[in-house]
Amino acid sequence: MQTLSNKEKMKIPRQAMPEQDSLERSKNFKEVNLGFTEELAKLEALRCIQCPKPTCIEGCPVGVNIKDFIQLVAEGDFLGAAAKIKEDNMLPAVCGRVCPQEEQCEAKCIVGKKNEPVAIGRLERFVADFEREHVGIRTPVLKPKTGKKIAIIGSGPAGLSCAGDLIQMGHDVTVFEALHELGGVLIYGIPEFRLPKEIVKIEIESLKKLGVDFQTNAVIGFTDTIDELMSNGYDAVFIAVGAGLPYFLKISGENLNGVYSANEFLTRVNLMKAYRFPEFDTPVFNCKDKNIAVFGGGNTAMDAVRTSKRLGAKNAYIIYRRSDVEMPARKEEVHHAKQEGIEFIFLSNPVEFIGDKDGWLQGVKLQKMELGEPDASGRRKPVPIEGSEYILDIDMAVIAVGNGSNPIIQKTTPDLQFNKWGNIVVDENTMKTSKAGVFAGGDIVTGGATVILAMGAGRKAAAAINDYLTKL
Ligand code: FAD
Ligand code: SF4
Repeated sequence: MQTLSNKEKMKIPRQAMPEQDSLERSKNFKEVNLGFTEELAKLEALRCIQCPKPTCIEGCPVGVNIKDFIQLVAEGDFLGAAAKIKEDNMLPAVCGRVCPQEEQCEAKCIVGKKNEPVAIGRLERFVADFEREHVGIRTPVLKPKTGKKIAIIGSGPAGLSCAGDLIQMGHDVTVFEALHELGGVLIYGIPEFRLPKEIVKIEIESLKKLGVDFQTNAVIGFTDTIDELMSNGYDAVFIAVGAGLPYFLKISGENLNGVYSANEFLTRVNLMKAYRFPEFDTPVFNCKDKNIAVFGGGNTAMDAVRTSKRLGAKNAYIIYRRSDVEMPARKEEVHHAKQEGIEFIFLSNPVEFIGDKDGWLQGVKLQKMELGEPDASGRRKPVPIEGSEYILDIDMAVIAVGNGSNPIIQKTTPDLQFNKWGNIVVDENTMKTSKAGVFAGGDIVTGGATVILAMGAGRKAAAAINDYLTKL
């Protein structure tokens, strides 16, 4: 390994991630980012100055030992690096791709004070891919069986990470999933071009190999209630049902043909493979040569608009009521969207959808906005400009303004405490709910958040469930 002084390390530029050509990729669903080569990874790892107080770790919601794994990459011990990450994060290939590192670990990297931060996410992705491609995913040794049974409701990142920890502790784990595919938003929300489904499936296969039992098409609240699960022999329950109920704009014309929620649009394309209709039998709006508008400024909006472009849209717009500074989407996604030809219409708010005589969407009336004082979220509040309305011709609209929680668990579990937004109330340290033996975590507790926070909650709950079971 090269020995370089910190001064020399600081001179190495941050290594760019190889990616598919933007024109090419805007027509296909293959992954945009291509990943580091071994040489690029080692060079990037050399930029880490191995801080005595590695602040990057404070920025990681699950406390991955970033300094040590990067050192192992610099030494060329990629499998050692993968093992080091997995001490704290069971889904590094997923997190390396979708975590907002620029707001977390990389935002706290000391090198980033004067230069660009170490590309921690790209390195994480590289080592996870290296392990998978060279030796497959290595499975850990399980503790002896305890005879305790846990039901996990939902197979998104919170449910999967909780299942992974509990099975290793020797418990029997069954994951109940409402859909016919496992993985939650990782499968039905985030598109293939950002997170190949094969990667998620391989991670799930490794949990199956460890002995986790997965039951699909099982909607808890319909098929069984939580009380029924507990009287059927489950000693504890972890609720990880996410926030899958889409919000709408509540404006006139929202029920016209051609208006979708982002959830429905992305689920049809990602999960039901509508982009391969009629080979797969779920249709979706034919975007070819059409004008498509997506309303919202988060990751979901970026995913929907880039999907519509790949389905052949002539014009694909993001319509956002604030400016680009306030947009919550990851900067990388916005950058990629712009490269792919997505048009951004800022400071505009929809006030009415306009339809034709047959009930199909034709256009949207937009009102221009200006930014006022910061609101409760800390972002400047959009204020309507009177008399500034104008019509934009569109053929399809996708609403991506956030999600709330599905009320089914609340309706069927009367002794579980929820807050006014329908999120389950938990003790933040243990993820314990108001109901004995029932724990919850992920988006159903926080509202729509991130993959890594959901995983962190799953792991915290697993530790607390183990503690609870040993005291039973
Ligand atoms: P989910 O992933 O929502 O999983 C919940 C699972 O529970 C689902 O499979 C659901 O079908 C199942 N379920 C629901 N009700 C029941 C029931 N009654 N019985 C049985 N099963 C049930 N985060 C990032 O960090 N980076 C990103 O780039 C990013 N992009 C995103 C893009 C989109 C389009 C969306 C929608 C979200 C994105 N997020 C991103 C957010 C992130 O995906 C979520 O915060 C995370 O998936 C939450 O995990 P979870 O396990 O709590 O819930
Ligand atoms: Fe390396 Fe940055 Fe972490 Fe320091 S803060 S150890 S430079 S990744």
